[in-house]
Amino acid sequence: MAHDVHIIGGGLAGSEAAWQLAQAGLKVRLSEMRGSGEMTPAHQTDGLAELVCSNSFRSDDSDKNAVGLLHDEMRRLDSIVMTAGEKARVPAGSAMAVDRDVFSEEVERRLANHPNVEVVRERVDTLPDAGLTIVATGPLTAKTLAGSIVEATGEDRLAFFDAIAPIVHRDSIDMSKCWIQSRWNKRTEASNEDGDYINCPMTKEQYEIFVQALVDGEKTEFKEWEADTPYFDGCMPIEVMAERGIETLRYGPMKGVGLDNPYDTTEEHPQGRWPYAVVQLRQDNKLGTLWNMVGFQTKLKYGAQVELFRTIPGLENAEFARLGGLHRNTFINSPLVLDRQLRLKNAGHIRFAGQITGCEGYVESSAVGLMAGLMAAAEFRGEDWTPPPRTTALGALLSHVTGDAEAATFQPMNVNFGLFPPLHEVKKKQRKEAYTSRAKADLGEWLTARERVPA
Ligand SMILES: Cc1cc2nc3c(=O)[nH]c(=O)nc-3n(C[C@H](O)[C@H](O)[C@H](O)COP(=O)(O)OP(=O)(O)OC[C@H]3O[C@@H](n4cnc5c(N)ncnc54)[C@H](O)[C@@H]3O)c2cc1C
Repeated sequence: MAHDVHIIGGGLAGSEAAWQLAQAGLKVRLSEMRGSGEMTPAHQTDGLAELVCSNSFRSDDSDKNAVGLLHDEMRRLDSIVMTAGEKARVPAGSAMAVDRDVFSEEVERRLANHPNVEVVRERVDTLPDAGLTIVATGPLTAKTLAGSIVEATGEDRLAFFDAIAPIVHRDSIDMSKCWIQSRWNKRTEASNEDGDYINCPMTKEQYEIFVQALVDGEKTEFKEWEADTPYFDGCMPIEVMAERGIETLRYGPMKGVGLDNPYDTTEEHPQGRWPYAVVQLRQDNKLGTLWNMVGFQTKLKYGAQVELFRTIPGLENAEFARLGGLHRNTFINSPLVLDRQLRLKNAGHIRFAGQITGCEGYVESSAVGLMAGLMAAAEFRGEDWTPPPRTTALGALLSHVTGDAEAATFQPMNVNFGLFPPLHEVKKKQRKEAYTSRAKADLGEWLTARERVPA
């Protein structure tokens, strides 16, 4: 079948993009390597949209939860992942969980029976030179294609590991115990007026207890197929540094030199003495709502991270937008290499979708697939594309991967309210509902405006 758009990868994002395009009347070729004798290290079947690990799409609460809101928005856009998920749903309280086999079979049945979709079992090794293409090959993209992506994007623009430092919601940091300052008060043109780092000081005693807890904390193991993945040396877990000796962190990410602790002043140091050790947080998104713990990439188990990091002065009530981790994960530096329509800046016929763009999670990957499908359909028809407002979950996620996140520290991220334009004026208790009701209204307007655009 001649096709209008070629989608590479029949996972969550590729399947969702294919559905959106097919429903819009475009002919789609969907290339999936599983089923042609190829397999990824995590998949178990040949089924389209296989869930590789948990069977949960997380919270389905669209009033108080960002991923629940994303569910709602995707349903309003005829998402195949949400429809198949509903059919495969199993009881899970306020979460949405599915029977993974029923889910994958339903996605495959709908796509295989669609007159506009041709599912081809083949591995694609190079990015096509021409023709509208969506690359949705996921965190375990086959090696040869990954090589072709490196050629197109540049050596240091494709990561094979995510070494994630925890990210904290700014409004959960107790600023009566920490302060903002850059080391030695160094500034660049992009600097904030007061400085670029939030500094959480530690005394000698606090530091020593903290380092011991890092060493003793429960860790997750590398999977066998992750252990031989390259590019690991540059992102040493904080607990591995701690194991190297009590002083290692104090000479590394926790060094206190050049920072004046205003809570510890003396006559000799009226500005404040340098703290014995410090935990620094740096702004992680343009909105300034999310801050990452600098150098704190870790393999500590999630529970252990929350418990330990809340012992840091100022972070006692920290809310984490994401916790630290190290996994094999192929993803591009989207804020640098993609335009606002998920297209490669230097090869506009190639669009990326799914986890490879630097979103994280089943639902988010599907959502970016959905938007890539809509964008490609609009482009094919020569229509203008207006993105969903950034006050919506779809818009916030899209803004994150295509420009709002800091390119230098770009790491995959789940959808969360920290990605939304802040509503400081609303009381904290009512803020989640304020975000979701604003989003629902704004998406409604966007959908109405879309209907007015002639097809
Ligand atoms: C081990 C692991 C566990 C995870 N667990 C969870 C979890 O529990 N919950 C959660 O929300 N998220 C999880 N994720 C993150 C993420 O949500 C999933 O990986 C999700 O499937 C990503 O969707 P995707 O469509 O981007 O990629 P995928 O669903 O992986 O789809 C990519 C598809 O592309 C195919 N492909 C790859 N290379 C080629 C090629 N060259 N030619 C043709 N086809 C190709 C693959 O076979 C695959 O079917 C996990 C990720 C990993 C790696």
